[in-house]
Amino acid sequence: MMDPLENGTGPEVELVHVRDDGQRETVRLKKVVRSEADWVGELQPMEFCVMRQQGTERPFSGEYWNNHEKGIYRCASCGTALFQSGEKFESGTGWPSFFAPVAEQNLTTRTDRSHGMERVEVLCKKCDAHLGHLFPDGPKPSGLRYCINSAALKFAKS
Ligand code: FE
Repeated sequence: MMDPLENGTGPEVELVHVRDDGQRETVRLKKVVRSEADWVGELQPMEFCVMRQQGTERPFSGEYWNNHEKGIYRCASCGTALFQSGEKFESGTGWPSFFAPVAEQNLTTRTDRSHGMERVEVLCKKCDAHLGHLFPDGPKPSGLRYCINSAALKFAKS
């Protein structure tokens, strides 16, 4: 996992840097752009499958679906803060599920029409890693469910 404050080689974007102690600041950083061959060399096979090939891990198989520790979930590629334990909830799906991200600015979404469904895909803003999908059936008050693959996350205890 990269240092979240490290610049990549792509266009500049605005992100919220969140330290492991929860302190946050808005930063402008260059996006991380790599060739497919470079990603293969840098990532574990399951990380590559999920983050660069839009793969989905089997439910109840990942590292974090049942994690109840307090802390922050970062992008497994670039270290950008994505989710926190405070917004994690029991969805019963077997994937780590959150009703809100740590900061909207750290994610991008796009329509995914694969597998005969229309879904909202969730990606890391800094490195464009596929993270999972966003569904409108989460708990109140957001009503949102971010269904995220453990393989795209690295948890840091706080
Ligand atoms: Fe990332």
